[in-house]
Formats: sequence, C-alpha cells, structure tokens
Amino acid sequence: MPAITNHMPTAELQALDAAHHMHPFTAGNELAAKGARIIARAKGVYLTDSEGAEIMDGMAGLWCVNIGYGREELAEAAARQMRELPYYNTFFQTSHAPVIALASKIAELAPGDLNHTFFASSGSEANDTNIRMVRTYWAMKGKPSKSVIISRHNAYHGSSVGSASLGGMAPMHAQGGLPIPDIHHIDQPSWWAEGGDMSPEDFGLARAQELEKAIQELGEDRVAAFIAEPVQGAGGVIIAPDTYWPEIQRICDKYEILLIADEVICGFGRTGEWFGSQTLGIRPDIMTIAKGLSSGYQPIGGSVVSDDVAAVIDSGEFNHGYTYSGHPVACAVALENLRIMHEEGIVSHVRDVAGPHLKEQWQALGDHPLVGEASICGLMASIALTPDKASRAKFASDPGTVGLICRDHSFANGLIMRHVGDRLVISPPLVIQRDEIDILITRVRKALDGCLEDITKQGLMKPV
Ligand SMILES: *Cc1c(COP(=O)(O)O)cnc(C)c1O
Repeated sequence: MPAITNHMPTAELQALDAAHHMHPFTAGNELAAKGARIIARAKGVYLTDSEGAEIMDGMAGLWCVNIGYGREELAEAAARQMRELPYYNTFFQTSHAPVIALASKIAELAPGDLNHTFFASSGSEANDTNIRMVRTYWAMKGKPSKSVIISRHNAYHGSSVGSASLGGMAPMHAQGGLPIPDIHHIDQPSWWAEGGDMSPEDFGLARAQELEKAIQELGEDRVAAFIAEPVQGAGGVIIAPDTYWPEIQRICDKYEILLIADEVICGFGRTGEWFGSQTLGIRPDIMTIAKGLSSGYQPIGGSVVSDDVAAVIDSGEFNHGYTYSGHPVACAVALENLRIMHEEGIVSHVRDVAGPHLKEQWQALGDHPLVGEASICGLMASIALTPDKASRAKFASDPGTVGLICRDHSFANGLIMRHVGDRLVISPPLVIQRDEIDILITRVRKALDGCLEDITKQGLMKPV
C-alpha cells in the first residue's frame, strides 16, 4: 500500500476513510456516501482542507483549541519531553517533574482550596473518576448510602458508560443500556426553550429548586453530589438565568451535597475568567477539566478537588487510575499551553477585548428574522432559530432540520459552526482577533440569510 498522506487525491482518502475508520456520533453509511471532509493543516483560527479551501474554525476543533493552531512551542515541548522521558506511570509510588509541575500550576490557577488533581486522558475519564471518587468519599466518611449523583437533562459529561450516564442526552441513553444505577436527572435551566410564560428570573429559581425537591424525594442520606456545566456546551450553549446558580449553591451548602462543576469547556479562559465557576460565582468541591487544558494538542483531563475531598480520599487507598494518568508528554504540553496563556494574557483578551467585541455583534444577530435568542458568555455563544420570534415557537419540521440547513450554509461560506437541534453554536479559539470576529459575524449573517431563503422556498418557515 502506498503511504497515505495529504498528497493523495481527496477521493482516495475518503474511500479509505469510509472503508476503515468509524466516526464518533456519525451515521457511517450516510457519511460514506458523500465522503468526509479531509482536514489537511491549520494555522491560527483557520483550517485548510485537502482541496486547499480555507475555513475559519468557529468551534476551536471541539471546543478545545483555545490557543489556536500551529503553535511551535507546544510541538517543541512535546518533542523535548519525549526525548527525556516519554512515559512513566504514577502508580508505583513514583512521580515525575511534568506531572508535579502541572498539578502545582492547576492548584495555583484554580479557585478556593481546589489544590489537588487526579489526572486522566479525557473529560469522560475524569467524570468516571468523579463518580467513583464522590461515592468513595462518602463511604470513607461512613455514609455509604450517599451514592446518588444528580445531573441534568441535556447535559453533556462525556461518552464512556459512566460519564454518558451522568449526561442527560436521550439518544445516548437509548443505546447500550444506560444510565448506570443511582444517577438522577432534573430539568435544565433553558428559559428560551422551556420557560413558557415565566420570567427568566422566576424560571431560573424554579429550575434550581428542582434540585432541592429531588434531594428531599430521594432522601438527604442518599445523595452524594450534583454535577453541572457552568454553561451547558454540547447541549446548545445554554446560559442559566442569573437567579439559578446562587440558588443551586445555597441548596448544595444546605444539604452538604458535593458540587461538581464540569469545566471541560468553560475552564481555561472560555468564559473570560480562568474557570466558569469564577464567572458564575460557583464554589465547587470538584472541577472536571480537559479540552482547553492542553488546547487539544494532547489528550489530557483531570478532576481538581478540594482540600477536604483530597484529605478524605487520601485517608485510604482509592482503587482507581489510568495507565496514562499524568502522562509526562501530555503534562509538558499542557504546562507550555498554560505558560503561553499566561504570558500572552489570553484570559484577559477574552474578558476585555474579544469577548466584548463578539458580544456586541452577536447580540445584534437577534435582529435577524430567524433568530429568537442570541446568547453569549465569554467566547461561547448560541443562536436559537425560530419561525416566530414573539411566541418563541419551534419549527414544524423535525428538530434539527433547519439547524442543519443553516450549518451547511455556514460551511459553504467558510465558517465552521455546529448545530444542536435548531440552535447554532460557536466557540472559537480564544486567540481570535477583532478583524477575525468581524469576518466570523459576516459569515454567520450570510448563513442565516441563505437559510431563511431556502426554508422559505421549501415551506419550512412554519411553527408547530
Ligand atoms: C467534551 C466534554 C466532556 C468529555 O470530554 P472528552 O475529552 O470528550 O471525553 C465532558 N464534559 C463536558 C462539559 C464536555 O464538553
């Protein structure tokens, strides 16, 4: 077989991809029939495909390439570490400088007394760690009955058996016998879609109080933890009303429920602070981290836990760990990523420059006839498409039909956006500059115009 490289004709790469590569969250045969888009290289906020077309990456890969593509320093850090010590485990009462340095750095950045990190290679693995850790925490404190973890419908916490059980994605639960026992879901704080006649403030309170009801129904002695993303990402960039998080915090404090903030997307600058918990005023006992920790250059994640949680877990043996927990190359790359984030002031760039510039133009999209809601937090944003703005109506067509049409227009115009049902979401690299934001917005508007024209022609501009 000849070497398979970018120099191969696209059609041949696509044929081999279809023959041998199974894609995540994809209808395989459908994709095989049209062929995957082959991404060849990337620089800054732009991708180049195998046909030479340049596309702006409005999703930072999968919410992760925060520092942008093509950073030589990260390649150098990986090469240096591979030469010195490519691998060693952290099981055998052994450690190494990269994992020590990264754990120390995270302790310095993380809020409150979140001073201890248990490493994994992904957000899914880290949330699996969290399931076992919070249950073990209560067992070690002599309360083994506290095993229920409360989460939310339409949450995303990963794709392994445990983390997908924590998540609230119905299509995921429908396959493979999920959820595992003792996971309980309450409703999400999505006012635009589910708030009806309530004010956002009342709705936020009501949805938070579902947590209190669930604790009372399950019994305080049964509940171990509540887990939530500060801003729901994969669920459609859903930002809770202002009343929501203070009430959640009050309830977790009152019933002594561990609060797990899944910061896999919100962490490391996405919301304009180092962590989404800081932006939203949450005091978690555990944070899940991954994605932006290494800007996606290496697979790494972890659970960052409080002094109290660490003290209890460390009082015995926690029978848990991954071969690649604290992988030296991944740690070295993550450290270099954080060094650059710090040196270039990328978090304050999001908070003071890119965030406000995008916000102004993103919210102005609310004037478009298709847009029911335009919401944004830092550099994560969404628009909800609707056939009738006043009544916040859904489309009569199957959910996602119109969203996909809009997404396809965006791709054709040279912008990667993602659709979640009939919401469109973006999460661009945090290093995006003002002029690039202007280009992004122009392309979103073109996509909306193209979509409106198509669905008007096709008779899809109809409420349920
Ligand atoms: C992506 C994501 C995960 C899962 O991370 P993986 O690295 O894909 O396993 C978990 N939680 C949230 C909030 C995510 O966005």
